[in-house]
Amino acid sequence: MRKIAVYGKGGIGKSTTTQNTVAGLVELGRKVMVVGCDPKADSTRLLLGGLHQKSVLDTLREEGEDVELDEVRKPGYGNTLCVESGGPEPGVGCAGRGIITSISLLEQLGAYEESEQLDYAFYDVLGDVVCGGFAMPIREGKAKEIYIVTSGEMMAMYAANNICRGIQKYAESGGVRLGGLICNSRKVDREADMIQALAEKLGTQMIYFLPRDNMVQRAELNRKTVIEYDPTCEQADHYRNLANAIDANSNVVVPTPMKNDDLEHLLVKFGLYE
Ligand code: ADP
Ligand code: MG
Repeated sequence: MRKIAVYGKGGIGKSTTTQNTVAGLVELGRKVMVVGCDPKADSTRLLLGGLHQKSVLDTLREEGEDVELDEVRKPGYGNTLCVESGGPEPGVGCAGRGIITSISLLEQLGAYEESEQLDYAFYDVLGDVVCGGFAMPIREGKAKEIYIVTSGEMMAMYAANNICRGIQKYAESGGVRLGGLICNSRKVDREADMIQALAEKLGTQMIYFLPRDNMVQRAELNRKTVIEYDPTCEQADHYRNLANAIDANSNVVVPTPMKNDDLEHLLVKFGLYE
């Protein structure tokens, strides 16, 4: 089983990209579990056709320790298995705790056993790795392979570089590696070239360039992945291509994060020297 975590700045498109790519993996015949690791608990909405009714933390709060796997893990599109970690009430406690609790619970309940026949577990993780809880999948080797969603916008690249710092820090103890950058386009000038250049500096690859397309919003309004909503559209093929690229990827590295100054130089180079 490949254990993959998708990281990136808030709002960059982690949940959208993860679920659409998972729909592509399903078409390849893969069995996939998706674990939402964002207190918003919206990482599986497109696969479930609506928000997951009960996060792991909610379930534990309401039912105590005696929880069954089927209460927290719901079947979604294409036989996917969907879990949401959830989080504390806003303003109370560390949001990252939910991740630790829910991965431990899934382990205890046997969700990763051979008999489950999973090809992939995906963790959709909020933000950059500043807070301990959100670094947990990396720190404790729960996820072995990381993909970072970014765009050509400065803050997204800044977050990507920070996440690389986290991966580098825990690469030795947890065995975690970076599989590549996914550029989720914001239609920035020379975006693909810039993310390619960033990837090179980080010692990794831009595994795919996803165009920005309103089909994503249309599908989202209908609570579906693009592949389910309109399997024949171009964007559906882009997600299939990304799924294929991940499925075939063996290029995993310990990244070499950039100094903040160097990152800014890269942005200046691509932004100003036209
Ligand atoms: P995150 O999980 O990183 O916080 P989301 O996946 O929720 O971000 O994405 C934020 C919004 O961006 C979504 O509402 C989605 O409609 C939009 N979005 C993401 N990727 C694309 C894309 N390739 N084209 C158009 N809209 C996109
Ligand atoms: Mg999200």
